[in-house]
Amino acid sequence: NTKAKILITGGGAGGLALSNKLLHYFSGAEITIVDPRGYHWYQPGQTLLLAGAYKSKSKVIEDNATYLDSQVKWVEAGVEAYNPDNNQITTTSGQVLNYDYLIVATGLELRYDMIEGLDTNEIGQGNIASIYLSPEAGIASHQQALTFAQSKGGQALFTRPQGAIKCAGAPMKATNLIEYFVRQAGQRDAFNFEYCTAENQLFSVKAFDQRLQDIWAERQITPNYEHTLTSLDSAAQTATFTLADNAQRTMDWDFIHIVPPMTTVKSLRESELIDETTFKGYLEVDKYTLQHKRYPNVFGIGDTVGTPIGKTAASVKSQLSIVASNLQSLITDQPLTAHWNGYTSCPMILDVGHAMLWEFDYSLEPMTTLPIQVVDPLDKSELAWVMEKSLIRPVYDVMLHGYTPV
Ligand code: FAD
Repeated sequence: NTKAKILITGGGAGGLALSNKLLHYFSGAEITIVDPRGYHWYQPGQTLLLAGAYKSKSKVIEDNATYLDSQVKWVEAGVEAYNPDNNQITTTSGQVLNYDYLIVATGLELRYDMIEGLDTNEIGQGNIASIYLSPEAGIASHQQALTFAQSKGGQALFTRPQGAIKCAGAPMKATNLIEYFVRQAGQRDAFNFEYCTAENQLFSVKAFDQRLQDIWAERQITPNYEHTLTSLDSAAQTATFTLADNAQRTMDWDFIHIVPPMTTVKSLRESELIDETTFKGYLEVDKYTLQHKRYPNVFGIGDTVGTPIGKTAASVKSQLSIVASNLQSLITDQPLTAHWNGYTSCPMILDVGHAMLWEFDYSLEPMTTLPIQVVDPLDKSELAWVMEKSLIRPVYDVMLHGYTPV
């Protein structure tokens, strides 16, 4: 039992799920969520919209009320500014809210604005696709891919920005699905597939990276490393990349799928709460306890925290009980003993019908929740696809209600 005032900024996957989880830990606490978004967006469903496995926006959009407990208060506004020295925030509507404990869960901001010449209104039109932008863009991308597959041929570019992004596998899932649609249409030889990543590898786990490289060699998808998309000319259908030595490379495209750079949201990145040294621009937390390093009454959950890996809803699921338990310890003057291991999972979709279930933690070694005989992470698996398509959503919903089933 506590009378503590707990404020959660951001009511997406992490914030909403944690509000419910905390109700299992505390009675009498005053829990408030601050978030301007009046609906919940199931972002992992974006790849299923591209795949055509989900057919409408209603598959990824849900009322917040479906998940919000009546004991939790929702302030429908954004955070304008943090004032952690006074345990206060100011909202975009000018309200000042006080807290005893703060949990930051504002996710990541999509920074299409960092790509010169890109007009987001053009995404979902013609041959510029980006499943990250919105449910509408996810739906449009399916049609765009089919239209491109039926065309006379051409060059398809796929981009991946520098640094941490939500679902680091999604840029490659999009590449796989679009290459699959083109192959299905029967004229694969008339198309060229180029994947341009700002990073120097496809994936951070070596075994997974090598496996995908082998698959791409067979499927004739060419990786281009240390290619950062810096500008786009939609009329000329060119994309310009900055390379490692700062040289520029301009490539033509007939189809382009863009994954934008991502940063934490403005109010957070301009605040005192930010990490200035290790994970620059992210919430400065201990990577195990998820407690802020300088403000002990502040915790983080989800994409916004400065940890080496873990920007997935699957990570949120495994962070929930860590944050709740450590907050309880803090409130009751006990040492913080719950440690997050960096758990991340990424079902690497290969085509409509197959995926590889990739799981790992801070060790960056493959791991499996299910016995390896059931799903080997390096096998092209129908079961992994079925899980991605039909099982992950119910598990996610259970998570939003504050439970952690698997
Ligand atoms: P979010 O769920 O994004 O929530 C952040 C919340 O903060 C939002 O509600 C937003 O409105 C709010 N907010 C923003 N600014 C402010 C502000 N100033 N004040 C207050 N509130 C604010 N994960 C998987 O596990 N598996 C997958 O297969 C997978 N695929 C993905 C595919 C795509 C295309 C994308 C985009 C994501 C995918 N993810 C996947 C990642 C997953 O969706 C995120 O990791 C997860 O949503 C993170 O939760 P979060 O609470 O940190 O952020």
